[in-house]
Amino acid sequence: MEQQGRVALVTGGTRGIGEAIARKLAADGFSVAISGHAGRTVANAVAKLGRDGVTVRGFAADARKEEDQKALINWIESEFGRLDILVNNAGIGEFGAVDEISPALFREVVETNLFGPYYAIHFAAPLMKKGGGGFIVNIASLAGINAFAGGCAYNASKFGLLGLSDAAMLDLRHDGIRIAAILPGSVATEFSDSHRGRESSWMLAPEDVALAVSDLVRYPDRAIPSRLDLRPSRPPKK
Ligand code: NDP
Repeated sequence: MEQQGRVALVTGGTRGIGEAIARKLAADGFSVAISGHAGRTVANAVAKLGRDGVTVRGFAADARKEEDQKALINWIESEFGRLDILVNNAGIGEFGAVDEISPALFREVVETNLFGPYYAIHFAAPLMKKGGGGFIVNIASLAGINAFAGGCAYNASKFGLLGLSDAAMLDLRHDGIRIAAILPGSVATEFSDSHRGRESSWMLAPEDVALAVSDLVRYPDRAIPSRLDLRPSRPPKK
């Protein structure tokens, strides 16, 4: 419980990787808040975690909406008074070739996976500065450095997220705000149609990403572990 008295926000903390991160940070002693896209998903997750003895608070905030992300950070300030850790985890995986994916779907992916983290960092930075600093972890993807056919929207969002992560790190480090990106390979969640029903025993577990977050934020203040590739050890051989 070494992180007692410190506050962590996990976007997309209702299930999958975000839920595992919320559980781990709560076990580390943080006061944890989660967000999701709708009141229903957030309430269900808060209740489910509560049944497991994990206390988190929840707030519905659509990652794509500037006003929702602003309201989320305002809520954190009024309810907790500070923010030490922001984990930008909320994201969607929608795929299709560049001449087939609709403009609306392309926009939805980029707005969720790239604008969402931008809004959260933009509104959280002043609150972190007030508290003397903080740590922001962006859950990117190996798809942020490796393009693949059908990945134009997802690749664009995650390549962009890595650029945002690095530039924001350079902007904010002198204010005591450190920023890291984690680039996981395939993680066994219900993330996208490509994951559902797929043999998943070789994949990373959500808890592996949660452990990385917990470890990164423990680095001494003088060090910024700004990027971590996290790969399954034994993916199917090609
Ligand atoms: P899940 O689909 O299991 O969970 C997605 C989370 O994001 C949910 O909490 C969901 O909330 C939230 N979310 C989705 N859209 C929005 C939105 N518009 N506003 C607010 N919250 C939203 O996915 P994973 O746990 O697998 O993925 C989490 C992150 O990890 C993503 O950024 C993904 O790109 C990344 N990643 C995943 C990998 C994988 O193989 N699974 C690999 C590499 C990276 P709600 O329940 O309210 O919809």
